[in-house]
Amino acid sequence: MEDMEKRVRAVRETLERESAPWGRAPTLIAVTKYVSAEAVLPLAGLGVTQIGENRVQSIREKLPVLGEKFSIHLIGRLQSNKVKYIIKDVCLIHSLDRLSLAQEIDRQARKAGRVMPVLVQVNIAREPQKGGIPEEEVFPFLRACACLPGIEVRGLMAIMPLTEDRPFLLEKFTRMRQLFDRCREENINGVRMEELSMGMSRDYDLAARAGATMVRVGSALFR
Ligand SMILES: *Cc1c(COP(=O)(O)O)cnc(C)c1O
Repeated sequence: MEDMEKRVRAVRETLERESAPWGRAPTLIAVTKYVSAEAVLPLAGLGVTQIGENRVQSIREKLPVLGEKFSIHLIGRLQSNKVKYIIKDVCLIHSLDRLSLAQEIDRQARKAGRVMPVLVQVNIAREPQKGGIPEEEVFPFLRACACLPGIEVRGLMAIMPLTEDRPFLLEKFTRMRQLFDRCREENINGVRMEELSMGMSRDYDLAARAGATMVRVGSALFR
């Protein structure tokens, strides 16, 4: 518990320092995929109430313990046939990366009587093995999503390449922020461009510096 408190404080201090020019520190989403639901509970006492999981099955399993105290974000790749299992239980899907998935989220959300907030995942480094919309297709994709009444786009998300090259990472984070700003200026009807989810344990400081509004931090808290 004391350890956890120290780690949360260290992450928050870094976020505040690096985001100072932006006037607002990014929201800390604690990625809890490494630990049991019970190990997550102390976070609530430290004021961390946003948690991220990358698998539908883990959300189902942890929900009975965590559902009351925490808002759960789905951050990992989502199969269309599993949307129905989380549609009522997550506050934000970060990983919308294709139109067929948007259509299924729309369908299930309307069935559940809600509008599902989503982020559009962008493949900013053009990695062939990774999900996400290529940069140049983001505007048309946002317009297509805006026609679906069961979803509401709230922003963009990116997962950076696994590299220690910090200048390269900072450049990609900055590029994401510029894309986010252009999307905001475009002011697409039915799209609320408010959140930019990027940065993980090894690079959340750079993401905060570049203007992230949400960071997803797992191992820096739990390992
Ligand atoms: C696991 C995961 C994270 C957190 O990664 P850490 O390096 O442990 O901080 C963030 N985003 C996604 C999509 C993940 O799957």
